[in-house]
Amino acid sequence: MPLTAATGQSIHLPSSTDVSSAGTTPKEFRARTFVASARRRNDVDTDSLTPTPITHFSETETMLAESISKWANEAVAPKVRQMDEEEKMDPEVVEQMFEQGLMAFEIPEEYGGAGMNFTSAIVGIEELARVDPSVSVMCDVHNTLVVTSILKYGSEKLKKEWLPKLATNTVGSFCLSEPASGSDAFALKTKAEKTENGYKINGSKMWITNSLEADFFLVFANLNPEAGYKGITAFIVTKDTKGFSIAKKEKKLGIRASSTCVINFDDVEVPKENLLGQEGQGYKYAISLLNEGRIGIGAQMTGLALGAWENAAKYVWNDRKQFGQLVGEFQGMQHQLAQAYTEICAARALVYNAARKKEAGEDFVTDAAMAKLYASQVAGKVSSLAVEWMGGMGFVREGIAEKMFRDSKIGAIYEGTSNIQLTTIAKTLQKKYTQ
Ligand SMILES: Cc1cc2nc3c(=O)[nH]c(=O)nc-3n(C[C@H](O)[C@H](O)[C@H](O)COP(=O)(O)OP(=O)(O)OC[C@H]3O[C@@H](n4cnc5c(N)ncnc54)[C@H](O)[C@@H]3O)c2cc1C
Repeated sequence: MPLTAATGQSIHLPSSTDVSSAGTTPKEFRARTFVASARRRNDVDTDSLTPTPITHFSETETMLAESISKWANEAVAPKVRQMDEEEKMDPEVVEQMFEQGLMAFEIPEEYGGAGMNFTSAIVGIEELARVDPSVSVMCDVHNTLVVTSILKYGSEKLKKEWLPKLATNTVGSFCLSEPASGSDAFALKTKAEKTENGYKINGSKMWITNSLEADFFLVFANLNPEAGYKGITAFIVTKDTKGFSIAKKEKKLGIRASSTCVINFDDVEVPKENLLGQEGQGYKYAISLLNEGRIGIGAQMTGLALGAWENAAKYVWNDRKQFGQLVGEFQGMQHQLAQAYTEICAARALVYNAARKKEAGEDFVTDAAMAKLYASQVAGKVSSLAVEWMGGMGFVREGIAEKMFRDSKIGAIYEGTSNIQLTTIAKTLQKKYTQ
C-alpha cells in the first residue's frame, strides 16, 4: 500500500524550488518515494525568497504530512497497544516504513531515496509520533543520525554500498552511549585498534535504539585513548560480524516497542573500508549529528503532545458528559485545553525554526537545543494533563492517553538530557553577553 494523498489519489507536487512556498510549478509525484524530484533546501538561495511563517509548509511538505498521517492512522494505530504491551515493534510496520519511503527522506534519488529536504524528515517524525512515538523514534534515529552520517561523512564507496540498503531494507543504529558514559559521552571506553586489514573493536554500548531491528551500527570507539576525545573514531559494524552480540534488552517506562539494548563488542574485526570519514574525527561527527538529531526529538515530542491533546480533546468535546453537559464545555476545562494547545504551537515554532535554519545553512545549535528542551517539557506537561482531562479513561491501558504520558518522559533524556540542553543554551548566551 504505497502512500498517496489523504484522498487516495496520486499527488501533484510543486517543483522543489518552492520549498518555502514561493511560485509553484506542479510536477508528477511518485507516491512511493513521496517526492521524486524535490531538491534539498540547502540548494535554494533563501535570500531571494519572501519570508514566510515558520510553520508554513510547502505543498510538498503538506502532502507528505497528510500521506504519513493517513498511513500511520490506518496501518500503525491499530497495532500501537499490542506493540506496547509486547514491547516489540511489529516487523510488518518496519517493512512498510521502508515501502513508504519513511526511512529515506534525505537519501538522494540516485541512491534509491526520496531526495527530500531535512524538514520533510521532521514532518515525518512528527506525524508518526502523533500516533506512536516508538515508531517515530525508529524513523528519527535512522534518518537524522544514521543516514545523515553517511551523507555527510561517507566516501562515495560507502554511499554506494549503504544508502540503497538504508533506503530499502536495512535499519540503522547509532552507538555512542556506554554504561559509564552518558552525558559525558566522550569519556567512552570502547576501544579500537589497528590490524593488518582494518580495525578491531572491544567494549560495550548501552541504550542503543533500534538495535534489535538494525543490521547497520554506527559505532564510536577510541582509536587513541592517549589523545582523549580526539581519538574517537566512527566505524560501521554489521550485526553478523563475529564478536558482535546483543547482551540485554531493556524493559522501559515508555516507548516500549522501540528496542533499547546493551551491545557487546568482543574482538570485532572491522575492514578498513568501514571507517567512516577520518580517524580521530568521531567526536566532531557525533556532535554535529546530535545537533541535527535533537530537532528530530523535538519533532517527536511535539507530535506526541499533539497526539495526546487531540485524543483528549475529541473525548471531552464529543463523548463524555457530566452534570448534563460535555465536560469540555466547562470553562475550567476549556482554558486548560487552550493553554496546552498554545504551548504545543510554541514548541512547534521552535522545532520548525531550528529545521529551517539548518536548511538555510545558518547556525542552529542553540535553536535545536531550545526546541528539544521545550518540546519535551510541553510533551510531558500536555500528555499528563490529557490523562487528567479524560479522568479514569485516561488512566487505563486501553486508549493512548496513559501511553503518551509514559512515552513523553524519554524526551528529557535521550540525545542529551534537559540539563545538557540548558548548558548548551547557556554557553551560547554567556558568550554573547560576556563583555
Ligand atoms: C530509551 C533510550 C534510548 C536511547 N538511545 C540511544 C541510542 O540510540 N544511542 C546512544 O548512543 N544513546 C542512546 N541513549 C542514551 C542517552 O543518550 C543517555 O541516556 C543520555 O545521554 C543520558 O545519559 P545517562 O543516562 O548516562 O545519564 P547521566 O549522564 O548519568 O545523567 C544523570 C543526570 O545527571 C544530569 N547531568 C549529567 N551531567 C550533567 C551536567 N554536566 N550538568 C548538569 N546535569 C548533569 C543529567 O541531566 C541527568 O539528570 C538512549 C537512552 C534511553 C533511555
